[in-house]
Amino acid sequence: MDFELSDEQRMIKDAVRSIANEYDKKYWQEVHEEHRPPTELFDDLAEGGWFGAPLPVEYGGQGLGLLDTALIMEGLCEAHAWEATFRFTMSTVFGGITLVENGTKAQKERYLPEIADGETVWALGMTEPDAGLNSSRISTMAEKDGDEYVINGRKQWISGMDMVDELLLICRTSPLSEVDSKFDGMTMFIIDPETDGIEYSEIPLDIYYPEPTYDLYLDDVRVDEDQVLGEVGKGMYQVFSMLNVERVTAALSGWGAGKEALDLGVQYAKDREVWSEPIGAHQSIAHPLAEAHAKMESSKHMVRQAAWQYDEQVGDIGETANIANYLACKAAWEASEAAMTTHGGMSASEDMGVAAAWGVARHQRTGPVSEEMILNHIAQNSLNLPRSYNE
Ligand SMILES: Cc1cc2nc3c(=O)[nH]c(=O)nc-3n(C[C@H](O)[C@H](O)[C@H](O)COP(=O)(O)OP(=O)(O)OC[C@H]3O[C@@H](n4cnc5c(N)ncnc54)[C@H](O)[C@@H]3O)c2cc1C
Repeated sequence: MDFELSDEQRMIKDAVRSIANEYDKKYWQEVHEEHRPPTELFDDLAEGGWFGAPLPVEYGGQGLGLLDTALIMEGLCEAHAWEATFRFTMSTVFGGITLVENGTKAQKERYLPEIADGETVWALGMTEPDAGLNSSRISTMAEKDGDEYVINGRKQWISGMDMVDELLLICRTSPLSEVDSKFDGMTMFIIDPETDGIEYSEIPLDIYYPEPTYDLYLDDVRVDEDQVLGEVGKGMYQVFSMLNVERVTAALSGWGAGKEALDLGVQYAKDREVWSEPIGAHQSIAHPLAEAHAKMESSKHMVRQAAWQYDEQVGDIGETANIANYLACKAAWEASEAAMTTHGGMSASEDMGVAAAWGVARHQRTGPVSEEMILNHIAQNSLNLPRSYNE
């Protein structure tokens, strides 16, 4: 087993890191203050074709793997650009990978080159107020009317609606009461967010989160039947396949928040002196940081393994992707907690940036998937323990 990165992989990581290194702490502070996307960095990444890394060459991508994509995201995190990683989940995964796995030739030709060029941003419309993590309960309904569908319902927590070009919307095309299996009867649609009948309003957040997130209302939204992505009634199974990839990229966004906090904590532990030595000399400060580093490093390797298994299509990819997400997000949370303690009262200061990373690391333990649901999955599927919850 060779854990060494290849020359090409090292070059990929270095190239992305050097793009991101152009953006300093002041830049990120401005982005936070103005609560805007890091557009300039996105443009540079787009120019390098990095958003299209795992997409096929014939559709404008680089034909690289998910492991390479993970390394690109690691490179961003190492250059303090962890917030830019979310765009990979939104556009490259929700849009790109879903289209690669399920799109018609016409859909791939229409949408993939724009995603690969970094020109378009996608969002996922899955969560609903009354469904939560039990996605079989979603009730947004798409009813067939001639060669169109008419969509009515409500979604919640849909990130980035203000800047997206396309929305991947998951709807019921058959009510739950009429299907044999609870995940049957759901369908994916590609929706232009400017379509008549769509409204959205920002949800005020009490924590920092890189993308604003929205309540979404769909009132008699008419879409052509060729906006269906994949098979009618089988959308949830398509989502499950995409989620293995999302587990990996979302794990890295959480991991990146933890890495940022840890880097800040270590620096502060070296610089801050209130006795005769820096606070990092005290083991109560040093050990949590050291333990966090150990857990961050080991979870990084689990994320790489999940990405590699996806590329090679070997082993239980769902299990490894879930474990990787669980470990990376938990390690990130512990790292950011250690960094908050290290910063003492200064942890509350916006200038330090540590509380923003801490909040995001905490959220990544709950969404896109919660660690409780990951543990349910592992208990049931890996350990064959009885299911703990019913429909
Ligand atoms: C900032 C932000 C951005 C988001 N962006 C998007 C987006 O772009 N698109 C999108 O579709 N969604 C998005 N979401 C939604 C996110 O994916 C959900 O909030 C997340 O999946 C959790 O769902 P919930 O809040 O409804 O939890 P609930 O289902 O209400 O669960 C609440 C708690 O109970 C636990 N729980 C529930 N059921 C069980 C069980 N059977 N066993 C053990 N524990 C259980 C959960 O783990 C959780 O801790 C976003 C959310 C936030 C906060």
